[in-house]
Amino acid sequence: MINKREVKPMLHRQKCKKCEFYTIYQVVPVGEKAILSCTHCEYAEEIPWDREIKATFKSKEKFLKNLEELYPELQELKNPGDHTSLD
Ligand SMILES: [Zn+2]
Repeated sequence: MINKREVKPMLHRQKCKKCEFYTIYQVVPVGEKAILSCTHCEYAEEIPWDREIKATFKSKEKFLKNLEELYPELQELKNPGDHTSLD
């Protein structure tokens, strides 16, 4: 029997390594790991799940929040699949 933790996926904004857009990224905890994926191009990678993970993504989000002044289009990133380029 598998003991499944019920964990909601976390969403945050970041620049995608693959499609190079600023997009909504999803983090889904899977046991000891988490799947980090771009909701635009579906690029995905496995990362270790640790206590720092929430803080890491919070700081990424804070970084983009600060960029919003320069790039108001970042405010449009709200739902999975949303993406924007800042050029
Ligand atoms: Zn992408």
